[in-house]
Amino acid sequence: VAEKPDCIFCKIASGELPYYKVYEDQDVIAMLDIRPVNRGHALVIPKRHFENVHDLPDNLLAKIAIVAKRVAAAQKKALQPPGISVVQNNGAAAGQVIFHYHMHVIPKDHDLHQRSDPTSEELTAMAEALRRSF
Ligand SMILES: [Zn+2]
Repeated sequence: VAEKPDCIFCKIASGELPYYKVYEDQDVIAMLDIRPVNRGHALVIPKRHFENVHDLPDNLLAKIAIVAKRVAAAQKKALQPPGISVVQNNGAAAGQVIFHYHMHVIPKDHDLHQRSDPTSEELTAMAEALRRSF
């Protein structure tokens, strides 16, 4: 399961598709969600394809959780949100849309937010701000 055809996150991990990088190492990528529910909404993914928490090896789950914690710290430093959600959905019924494991790290301010479509300039600036704070 190194790479699954037509998986958007596998294409990002292999360099086929661009993304707004917050962090990368040999196993894990942290990037901005391009349709954020709030400013700074980030995703942490394994580079290899695993569909959900049931498939994901424990060692990768641990790495992803640690990177998510660091992303949350960068959001706290760069954006000072009142709260931050770290959440992860498994299965369409749970709200999973892309079937390559990912952990959401979402700055929050009480209310639910609609997804928005920021410009590439806004996403580039946000990714830079979080990288500087990482
Ligand atoms: Zn994939």
